Amino acid sequence: MLPLVALVGRPNVGKSTIFNALTRSRDALVHDEPGVTRDRHYGFCRLVEERPFGLCDTGGLSGEEEGLAGATARQARAAVEEADLVLFVVDGREGPSGLDQNILSFLRKSGTRFFLVVNKTDGIDVQAAVAEFARFGVERVIPVAAAHQRGIPELLEEIIPELPEDGDADVLADDPDRIRIAFIGRPNVGKSTW
Ligand code: GDP
Ligand code: MG
Repeated sequence: MLPLVALVGRPNVGKSTIFNALTRSRDALVHDEPGVTRDRHYGFCRLVEERPFGLCDTGGLSGEEEGLAGATARQARAAVEEADLVLFVVDGREGPSGLDQNILSFLRKSGTRFFLVVNKTDGIDVQAAVAEFARFGVERVIPVAAAHQRGIPELLEEIIPELPEDGDADVLADDPDRIRIAFIGRPNVGKSTW
């Protein structure tokens, strides 16, 4: 099964923009209004042809546990649980927020590996933006400007070696929208190689 990478972060930091950049689609909703994506949203990244992986966009963790925001947060947590790797996305222009801090502690407790992706670094001092997040103590910090496709190849270069050859993406079975494809054929014709 394919490895699975989940995008997590507070609303409006650019998770869906990164999803689009990695899947090269306009599939994920990108919207100015925080909290537009309510659900988990799956896609595939095939930018490195021989190492495809599943990608899960989430609606973001807004810190609220009630109603729709709470449901969204539960979806995001479920995504973290099923993922092989999490991209914790933050806003390089706004700097760290209390909500980022909460997400950080949640991710640490989850035990799932994660990178810190500092987005929206276009037109600002990238080093300074990254330094703002130094106190988070995350080993792997990757600056990007997803809306301008900047940093995406570097991000991929960091992601690929972290992924297991055989990932957890069979949990895509949880997604009612997914398309099921079965590979059928006699032994040795290349079913698994695909
Ligand atoms: P999400 O809520 O985390 O999924 O965030 P979205 O992907 O919907 O983006 C929220 C807003 O940030 C949109 O207005 C995007 O156009 C904007 N945005 C996303 N990436 C960048 C970036 O790299 N630079 C800048 N300046 N804006 C961005
Ligand atoms: Mg979104």
